[in-house]
Amino acid sequence: MFRNFKMVSYVVFGRGCFNQLNDILAEKRKSEASHMVFLVDDVFLKSPLKDRVPVKDPDTLMWVNVDHEPKTEYVDRLTQNVKKISDELPDGIVGIGGGSTLDIAKAVSLMLTNPGSSSDYQGWDLIKNPAVYHVGIPTLSGTGAEVSRTTVLSGPEKKLGINSDYTVFDQILLDPELIETAPPDQRFYTGMDCYIHCVESLSGTYLNAFSQAYGERAIELCRAVFLGSGPDRDDKLMMASYCGGMSIAYSQVGICHALSYGLSFVLGIHHGIGNCIVFDTLEDYYSEGVNEFRQMMEKHKIQLPRNLVAGIKDDQLEKMVDVALILEPLWENALGTDWKRTMTRDRIKELYLKM
Ligand code: NAD
Ligand code: ZN
Repeated sequence: MFRNFKMVSYVVFGRGCFNQLNDILAEKRKSEASHMVFLVDDVFLKSPLKDRVPVKDPDTLMWVNVDHEPKTEYVDRLTQNVKKISDELPDGIVGIGGGSTLDIAKAVSLMLTNPGSSSDYQGWDLIKNPAVYHVGIPTLSGTGAEVSRTTVLSGPEKKLGINSDYTVFDQILLDPELIETAPPDQRFYTGMDCYIHCVESLSGTYLNAFSQAYGERAIELCRAVFLGSGPDRDDKLMMASYCGGMSIAYSQVGICHALSYGLSFVLGIHHGIGNCIVFDTLEDYYSEGVNEFRQMMEKHKIQLPRNLVAGIKDDQLEKMVDVALILEPLWENALGTDWKRTMTRDRIKELYLKM
């Protein structure tokens, strides 16, 4: 059976296209009394972007905080806050920020129409009802969250996405000007998320020509951005993220992501930097990719934190392994159907202890 996968319905790309947001939303407003909710990364609280968000009466702009990556409990709280605004559902949820904010917007739009807690839906295709119309506007590029069918959340038990066709954005707006303000280190870590998506997709057993076409283009763009010096690097990075996301949509990520989820769940390390820490230890699996990644780190003078795992308690290490092992499709993509024979708990611990 071939996957029939859902894609984003509408895409607008270009420098300054953020100015079109008002017109795009106007078509989705049901009446003068209905409202939209903007979920915006609070890093923009004092930035000029704040005044460009087309908030009309009776819309609401809610600042979201992503000092910690999204948790199910935070999504549930935000969903309740949106419900308190009105008895009617909003006409739309618009997320403006990095991957964390985009995931929060996706999750809130799903939880407005599905009962219970977002933690009930961590997994694959557990969502029953379509989401509220939702729009994603990235201000950092690399995660591919703008195109993916998942919203990655840490819950009480695990870090796992709500993967469903309803999760996918109805509209995305890709304006390279919005990523200009990202701090260089953060831009690097999130950019490397994209690079690693491509390495894992292109070397995986799930690869097909569709994923390969997007993955190869995305990895070339990453090279132009992080090893080259040409113009339009924000435009290229934004498209790399998009293509990298499309590549994994029809294949899967691999070992780095599986281990990075465990690292993040137990130590709270953010996805981009966490992937870099893990990837740097995976030369046995992705030797060419790891070498090129180290060249990129050198060029951008990135110093990764070291010795994060050596001193942790045994039960924390066991939990890391548990969380990593939940991601079965990732291991299978990387190592094939009999991956359990080589990727034992002891081997995973050995890899973690290098970090
Ligand atoms: P992020 O959204 O966590 O943001 C990182 C930091 O950059 C934050 O402090 C944020 O406030 C700041 N920031 C964002 N845009 C900025 C800008 N333009 N200027 C200045 N500061 C800015 O980072 P991320 O790497 O984009 O996202 C990571 C998250 O994405 C993780 O939670 C991860 O699990 C998730 N993710 C999701 C998918 C998916 O398919 N849904 C894929 C990969 C990762
Ligand atoms: Zn990733």
